[in-house]
Amino acid sequence: MIAAVVLTAGCTKETGYKTLIITGQNNHDWQSSSPVLKKILDETGMFSCEIAETPAAGGDMSTFNPDFSSYKLVVLDYNGDSWSDKTKSAFIDYMKNGGGLVVYHAANNSFPDWKEYNEMTGLGGWGNRSEKDGPYVYYRNDSLIVDETPGIGGTHGKRREFLVRTRIVDHPITKGLPARWMHGNDELYSLLRGPARNMQVLATAFADSAAGGGTMRDEPMLMTINWEKGRIFHTAMGHADKEGGPAMQCTGLIVTLQRGAEWAVTGNVTQQLPYDFPTAAGVVLRPDFKEITYKEALQNIRSYDIGKSTKNLVCIQFHITQLAGDKAGLLKAEEDLVNILKDEKATAESKKLVLRELSWMGTEYSVPTVKELLNNNDLKDEASFALSRIQSVK
Ligand code: ZN
Repeated sequence: MIAAVVLTAGCTKETGYKTLIITGQNNHDWQSSSPVLKKILDETGMFSCEIAETPAAGGDMSTFNPDFSSYKLVVLDYNGDSWSDKTKSAFIDYMKNGGGLVVYHAANNSFPDWKEYNEMTGLGGWGNRSEKDGPYVYYRNDSLIVDETPGIGGTHGKRREFLVRTRIVDHPITKGLPARWMHGNDELYSLLRGPARNMQVLATAFADSAAGGGTMRDEPMLMTINWEKGRIFHTAMGHADKEGGPAMQCTGLIVTLQRGAEWAVTGNVTQQLPYDFPTAAGVVLRPDFKEITYKEALQNIRSYDIGKSTKNLVCIQFHITQLAGDKAGLLKAEEDLVNILKDEKATAESKKLVLRELSWMGTEYSVPTVKELLNNNDLKDEASFALSRIQSVK
């Protein structure tokens, strides 16, 4: 018999919201997506995640009986056989008692005949969903449309990068997010339909038919639903490739998932918006699902060359911006930059970036090092510019 619940190794963290990621059946590569979901949530330091696998399709589902009540958050990466009545009823109790739930991508395809589950997800797709399951919900221009027109539930066009529009800007999950941001190559779930009660559509994406099979509607991408005392964060995004792929590596997906998970547990979000959240200008990926740290950026930037990503510079600039008013902190940051200028292994292009930074935040401390670079043919113009700016500040 297959063990009903397989706990992954490495769950030694004592603190953090106890989280259960449920998977084991999916029309997607759940062996890839579930560890990535764990990585994304673990990265915040706020969650302590375990992964539970159900039996495989056709297996004895009566053996799947997680103790929901011992968790603060359940994340569903599951699209498969019905759970037993006992397990369903334990899950309903968990949600009734104020449980948190994250519904991820194809989990909204799951359980088409389970009434309470469909109320929790708000909207779903496939599984013979139709007008019997509830309306379509989407945006037209700036209005939320609830559309009872008969028709199928669930489709998506060709995979592509697409623009996401933040629709509710004062929700804890979306607070501070750009109005528009680019998402990594993904399926744009469309024509979702469901009860849609007590649901807020936080963000949408336009399913342009010109981009390959679109509805020409602004389709819901991020939603919250309140069900009894439970809170649900629903992301329709994140189609997984091997090791996650661009849809899961997208900083927008990662950060909204982290924030949505916290909101589902507490009703609030304390996580700061990171410096690398994408804008409309282009997709931003985190290939290893981590935000680079200031320390890493200081190291990485030393190999910068023209045409390479400037994300290390952006990270350093963000760090410096955060230090406004903190004299000691700013001086330390200035020292860090001057050390790059002194580093013989650092590229000339990286030193040009640093000199530009010092031109606006440098002090007398930088002057001797910058002066020396006046003798360097590659750097003398930038050094001279920085020097004139630093010395003009009184
Ligand atoms: Zn998918």
